[in-house]
Amino acid sequence: MRALTLVADRKLELIDAPDPPAPGAGEVQVRVKAVALNHIDVWGYRGMAFAKRKLPLVVGAEASGEIAVVGPGVSTFKPGDRVVMYGALTCGTCKACKEGRDNLCENVQGIMGFHIDGFSRDLVNMQARLVIPMPANVSFRDAACAPIAFSTVEHMLFDNAKLEPGETILVQAGGSGIGTVAIKMAKALGCTVITTVGDDAKAEKAKALGADHVINYKTERFETIVRKLTAKKGVDVVFEHTGADTFPGSLLVLKRGGRLVTCGATSGPTVTFNLMQLFQQQYKIFGSFGASMRNIRDSLAKMAGGMLPVIDTEVPLADFERGLARLESRQVFGKIVVTF
Ligand SMILES: [Zn+2]
Repeated sequence: MRALTLVADRKLELIDAPDPPAPGAGEVQVRVKAVALNHIDVWGYRGMAFAKRKLPLVVGAEASGEIAVVGPGVSTFKPGDRVVMYGALTCGTCKACKEGRDNLCENVQGIMGFHIDGFSRDLVNMQARLVIPMPANVSFRDAACAPIAFSTVEHMLFDNAKLEPGETILVQAGGSGIGTVAIKMAKALGCTVITTVGDDAKAEKAKALGADHVINYKTERFETIVRKLTAKKGVDVVFEHTGADTFPGSLLVLKRGGRLVTCGATSGPTVTFNLMQLFQQQYKIFGSFGASMRNIRDSLAKMAGGMLPVIDTEVPLADFERGLARLESRQVFGKIVVTF
């Protein structure tokens, strides 16, 4: 089978690897159909000092596929079933896993495609409990965006920030994979959405997705515009993932008692902010990473109901690196999906 492996920092090779063995008890073998790219793929590709991993490593953290073979004792799936896979190898036995909150697993073995072998290969054996069925009317391409992009946003907005209908939200980097999802989910709930983008072409696209106000952060200070748009009150919620460049401003535009939820630090991980501002304004800051099983099921249900991911580009497996370069260059609007 084909397997796209990272052999050194910034060096990928498409190799001919042996097929996995027959799935063991409680496992299924999945034929991968689509892999969606995320910033974690870029971090893995560049190499990160803190990432404990062994190379070569099969890349790809977010994927959909079809059940090829069912192992002993698995009654929940049959060959041909269309599925998505959870993006981390969790233990299944700790308290968090038992509650379906796998992203808080106490014994996680790693993130697929980052710490341990991922999904960019024709066949992969998975524990059946980490596999989630796809609705019939959703494509492999779109479903590949459920386990990380859609479900991360679902977890951020609803489990953490507890976004309510009628609230105002600032979505940072509205043209990114998760930014586009956040705009759609917040609009579907009935919120007023303000978003930032880096150029005018993206501004048009963000408006077409339903954003009420779009700010080009390259030409305008988003802090000033958000204050104006909210009559100096600020927003209820900020959706953060851009990090150092925007985080202090994101806090500044929150209303008293507002909530900031973040899952990323694309522009850098270190910020300074004023603790007096934090407690006097009674801000709530949520760190969010990954998603629960329920978030993935809810994401797929939203797709089945017509809320589809914005696809920037589809590339074949051999062009994975071209997809990463596009993601890294921030020219992207929506998700990049690698098809098999
Ligand atoms: Zn666990």
